[in-house]
Amino acid sequence: MKDRDFDNDLAQKGLRRTRHRAAVLSILEQSQQPLSAEEIFMELKAREMPANLSTVYRILDVLTSNNMLQKLNITGGKSLYEYNRMVHRHHLLCLGCKKILAIGSCPLGDFEKDLAKKTDFSIEGHKLDIYGYCPECRKNDSP
Ligand SMILES: [Zn+2]
Ligand SMILES: [Zn+2]
Repeated sequence: MKDRDFDNDLAQKGLRRTRHRAAVLSILEQSQQPLSAEEIFMELKAREMPANLSTVYRILDVLTSNNMLQKLNITGGKSLYEYNRMVHRHHLLCLGCKKILAIGSCPLGDFEKDLAKKTDFSIEGHKLDIYGYCPECRKNDSP
């Protein structure tokens, strides 16, 4: 897959383009699931663009505070980062191996509308994480 060029995206946010910033965006855009700082660190190494872990964290902070990435703080898991595709998503977390899957759709749209009507709140959002054990972890645990 040819890497997308993130120059414009960074420029729009008033951020200087660096090789590492562009690489981090590209890694997360291509990833099907959210990644931890350590995983991004390993992937940079694999792409022969090694950076210190502290540099990786700094880049993630900058990109997150500019809304280019979303930081997920999921109960029981460590911080993970996801490319911000501007879509609203929920996540399914395995309590065994800490794997996280994105759930494509949001089941709460109608519920929010009803709730707004009933309570006269203007509802601005919600958080929902679902957790359990994935098939691999369930297999390993069975007696
Ligand atoms: Zn698991
Ligand atoms: Zn939702």
